[in-house]
Amino acid sequence: MNRREFFRLASMAGIGLSASSFNSLVEAATGPLGVVPTNTGISGRVVDIGGAMAGATVAKYLRLWGGSNVQVTLVERESAYASNILSNLVLNGQRTMSSLQYGYSTLASRYGIKVVKGNVVGIDAAGHKVALADGSALAYDRLVVAPGIELDVIPGLESATAQAKILHAWKAGTQTTALRNQIVAMPSGGTFIMTIPAKPYRCPPGPYERACVVADWLKRNRPGSKVIVLDANPGITAEPLNFTNAFNVVHKGVIEYRPGVTINSVDASTMILNTSAGLIKGNVINLIPPHKAGTVITDNGLANVGGRWAGVDVLTYQSTAAPGIHVIGDSSATTQPKAGHIANQEAKVCADAIVRALGGRAPDPAPMTNSSCYSPITFETASWLTAVFTYDPLTKTMVPSATGEAEGINKDNYEEMFKWFRTLMEDSFA
Ligand SMILES: Cc1cc2nc3c(=O)[nH]c(=O)nc-3n(C[C@H](O)[C@H](O)[C@H](O)COP(=O)(O)OP(=O)(O)OC[C@H]3O[C@@H](n4cnc5c(N)ncnc54)[C@H](O)[C@@H]3O)c2cc1C
Repeated sequence: MNRREFFRLASMAGIGLSASSFNSLVEAATGPLGVVPTNTGISGRVVDIGGAMAGATVAKYLRLWGGSNVQVTLVERESAYASNILSNLVLNGQRTMSSLQYGYSTLASRYGIKVVKGNVVGIDAAGHKVALADGSALAYDRLVVAPGIELDVIPGLESATAQAKILHAWKAGTQTTALRNQIVAMPSGGTFIMTIPAKPYRCPPGPYERACVVADWLKRNRPGSKVIVLDANPGITAEPLNFTNAFNVVHKGVIEYRPGVTINSVDASTMILNTSAGLIKGNVINLIPPHKAGTVITDNGLANVGGRWAGVDVLTYQSTAAPGIHVIGDSSATTQPKAGHIANQEAKVCADAIVRALGGRAPDPAPMTNSSCYSPITFETASWLTAVFTYDPLTKTMVPSATGEAEGINKDNYEEMFKWFRTLMEDSFA
């Protein structure tokens, strides 16, 4: 497949649906895209847990495609979404966390989504309602659950004091800014250790990207420092060509990459990691623990894949454990990467399937999705990775039908990264 054909497929899949399905939805809407139609003949109550890449997108498209009689209530425990995407640029001082915040006022005012700030603590699948921590309850016809991930507690990190010192910064927010402060406080000739959990984890290229961004900053600001990457996987899991080049050439002598190393425990008082390769001491330890689905999934009988992830039918994202409940984004177990771009795509396939179900129709039998990730390698260069997935009726999974990796690390990619990011975030939150 040549570059042009790849991008043709990728742009078609950008909507997260097959082209014929998308056209029929556009025709069904009375006004231009961006206006909630009033005459679809479809009605129902949808409760949507989690207002991030998956949850915000599904809420918006349920209203755009379902119309004003599809009541959507989005329950999110935070006041705004803090983007993980581009949050590695907080570590080198190029972005601040406040520049990566996305509120919910546009979703409420433009699309008529009811936004509730609250924490869902229980799901009553038989009674079709969810319980919030404040004692209130919300009834639904269809439930979407998009709570992202939880991180395992590594031995040695049980206390709040230890957690404040050994950071993951893998849920963007205060930890990201705190990790930036730890890096700035490093001495020249210091050691930054980061750990990568075994797959599946969110954003396959993300940890390698972080190693590069930190190495780049240290090289220029704390000479003689090094970045030790301890990867539980047998090798680089994403963009192997570009990251091998980044580690061995661009950041040669700064990044030390060690595959196949797992973490047993950590001592926050001595800053020593106990690993399968022995004891390792660092000035900063950025420990990214193994992931599992959000607590509301694991606590409510939806984690039927290894007890950690939610099994779904990828034609609808309906849970394979409970009918009427759909799980999208990082919590779901699919063959697609756990990534914000894919979360946006899954949300659209799910919104389409719910609208069809409320109207008594079958789901689109041939959905397509795509994923892209741009990775900054230095303060002015980046690489990228992208893939198109199509539904395979034999395996009932999404299979990669085209994949691509940037031909090199350069400034053009770095500029394009911000355009891609702006477009994706507008599609989810504006
Ligand atoms: C450093 C880093 C860089 C990344 N870069 C990229 C990139 O370049 N491209 C890309 O595609 N992806 C990237 N990702 C991955 C991407 O951020 C995630 O895959 C994406 O955020 C997943 O979205 P989500 O909606 O499934 O979950 P999340 O973003 O985890 O959001 C879940 C939401 O649910 C809410 N919630 C959870 N439980 C409850 C509850 N019980 N009640 C109410 N609310 C609840 C949470 O508060 C949160 O807002 C990156 C990730 C990291 C860490």
